[in-house]
Amino acid sequence: MNQLQNKVVFITGGSRGIGAGIAKRVASAGADVVITYVNSAARAKQVTDDIEQLGRRALAIPVDNASPDAINDAIEKTIAQFGRIDILVNNAGIYIGKPLADYTLQDIDNTIAVNIRAVFLASQKAAQYMQAGGRIITIGSNMAERVAFATGSLYAMSKSALTGLTKGLARDLGPKGVTVNMVNPGPIDTDMNPANSAHADALRNAMAIPKYGKPADIAELVVYLASEASWMMTGASLTMDGGFNI
Ligand code: NDP
Repeated sequence: MNQLQNKVVFITGGSRGIGAGIAKRVASAGADVVITYVNSAARAKQVTDDIEQLGRRALAIPVDNASPDAINDAIEKTIAQFGRIDILVNNAGIYIGKPLADYTLQDIDNTIAVNIRAVFLASQKAAQYMQAGGRIITIGSNMAERVAFATGSLYAMSKSALTGLTKGLARDLGPKGVTVNMVNPGPIDTDMNPANSAHADALRNAMAIPKYGKPADIAELVVYLASEASWMMTGASLTMDGGFNI
C-alpha cells in the first residue's frame, strides 16, 4: 500500500491527464508531490487539494518546459521546500500533428524543447539531488516504437529520442543506484487524446483490446517503477497500449 511512504515525487505537467493521475496515485502510496503546469492553475490547485486530502504535502509550480530556467528554478524550489527529490516523472508533452509540408520551424523547435530538451534538463538537475533508490520515469509514447498513421512524424521523433536518453541516463546513474525507465502509453483518455474524438474509433480498431486506457492505468505502472521492488529494471521502455503496437 505505502510503497512510496515519505518519498518526494516531482511530476512535470501534473494539472491534467496522465500527470494528474500519477500525482494522485503516488500520493495514495504515501508520497509528497510537486506538480508543474503551464496554464491550468485552477486544475493544478484541484490536484494539490486532492493530495492534501490524502494527508500528503503538495505544491504546484507554473513551469513552461520550453524554458530551461523555469525547470531549474522549480527543482531548486522543490529542494528548498521539501528537502529532496526521490522520484522525477517526466510527463509533460505536446503533440503537434500535421501533414509533413505544414510543419513550421516553430513547431519543430517547440516540440524538441518541451518533449526532449526539458526531459534532459530536468533529469540532469534532479539527478544531482538523488540518492540510491532514486528514480527517473519518463512518459514516452507507443509512437516511439511504431508509427501507425501519417501526421505523427515530429511527435514520433521526439518520443523515440527519449528511448536513447533513457538508456544513456540508466548507464550514467546506475552506479549511484538510481534507475531510469520509460513508459510508452497507447491511447489514454485525456484532453490530448479524448476517447470520443473523431479519430478515436480508428485508434480503438488498431488495438488488441479495443478500449482507451485511463490515466490511473498508467499510474499503476509508474508506482511500480517508482518503488523499491523495481530496483533491477533500468533503461527499459515499457509499452502499455492495449496491444496497439503488436
Ligand atoms: P494533456 O494534454 O492531457 O496534459 C498535458 C499536461 O502537460 C498538462 O498538465 C499541461 O499543463 C502540461 N504541459 C503542456 N505543455 C507543457 C509545457 N510546455 N511545459 C510544462 N507542462 C506542459 O496530455 P496527456 O496527459 O494526454 O499526456 C501526458 C504525456 O503522455 C505526454 O508526454 C504525452 O505525449 C504522453 N502520451 C499521451 C497519450 C494519450 O493517449 N493521452 C499516449 C501516449 C503518450 P496545463 O494543464 O497547464 O496546460
